[in-house]
Amino acid sequence: MSDAIAKSSTPFSPQAESSSSAQNDPDSLIRNVVIIGSGPAGHTAAIYAGRANLQPLVFEGFQKGGIPGGQLMTTTEVENFPGFPSGVMGGQLMAQMKEQSVNCGAELIMEDVVSVDFRDRPFTIQSTSHTVKAHSVIIATGAIAKRLNLPSETKYWNRGISACAVCDGAAPIFRGVELAVVGGGDTAAEEAIFLTRYGSKVHVLVRSDRLRASKVMQDRLLSHPKIMVHWHSLPIDVYGEEIVQGIKIRDAITNEERDLAVGGLFYAIGHTPNTDLFVGQIDLDENGYIITKGKSTATNVEGIYACGDVQDHEYRQAITAAGTGCMAALEAERWLSAKLASLLQ
Ligand code: NDP
Repeated sequence: MSDAIAKSSTPFSPQAESSSSAQNDPDSLIRNVVIIGSGPAGHTAAIYAGRANLQPLVFEGFQKGGIPGGQLMTTTEVENFPGFPSGVMGGQLMAQMKEQSVNCGAELIMEDVVSVDFRDRPFTIQSTSHTVKAHSVIIATGAIAKRLNLPSETKYWNRGISACAVCDGAAPIFRGVELAVVGGGDTAAEEAIFLTRYGSKVHVLVRSDRLRASKVMQDRLLSHPKIMVHWHSLPIDVYGEEIVQGIKIRDAITNEERDLAVGGLFYAIGHTPNTDLFVGQIDLDENGYIITKGKSTATNVEGIYACGDVQDHEYRQAITAAGTGCMAALEAERWLSAKLASLLQ
């Protein structure tokens, strides 16, 4: 068995069906619940499912985010997660959630899931070196903020460039200085307005002559005294000593280049949900997000739940991801119990 399994367990009987050799070969077990994803949604689901004695198996992938743990792993200080009055580093918060899910009985495999089959039951989840069967699945694969891939982007990431104003805007480096937001959608409008609390002025860089944001958000943006919208404006790079001190901008019509002195650049050019694996298996919306039913985390396939940013393009916060992770585990547990009760009748 691979060393990647951090903690092995036998599955919750009687739902689990195992042969005598199964104790030595976890791949031969039918799992109660497999959780795909290890950000706040995935680990919260694991904590609740573990405490419900479902012995969840969590796949911690790293292909999409670079490292397991989701988007918080590329964030510095998190100041808005309740329970940490002085803030907490994103990586530390995820390490603690992971430790807690293992303490609650979750088994972890640090591998990317490469394919799933939700057409037949039990469901099949194939990772780099495991093929796992499960009665229920919780999808918590998250989303990735789109990047501009500017030449100096990596150097200045978290040193003045951020993809989340709500997460990072209150950081000391952004206070009292001019800031810029790139994008023309609802996120850009919302983030620019949010940033006026901290920055002395907020520049919004829009690549065309129109905003995609809703009318109400456009009105708020365009009428805000601390916000200036720059049309046909494309950031082509950032510059600065240790942190961002300005942006190089190209006019999309004239190709003229100019400098804009700002202390921060916030990307608001959309997110990409990590749902490539699920195309053709469960219902996705036109932007690729998993569709969940009403206020639940249930997908169109009974026994498959989705939580966190993979199904939420609106709130996208660690705490909302954790909240829906909790919901997904509770819903999976109820569904498994009802299934078991019907089998025993
Ligand atoms: P959107 O896709 O709506 O907007 C992305 C913006 O970024 C567009 O203005 C787009 O320009 C611009 N853009 C994309 N790529 C680039 C690039 N390479 N360079 C420069 N600009 C670029 O994403 P949002 O995150 O704003 O919104 C996603 C969804 O979430 C929407 O449905 C939105 O309504 C919703 N939402 C709702 C909120 C709410 O209800 N409170 C809050 C936030 C989002 P272009 O228009 O030219 O393509």
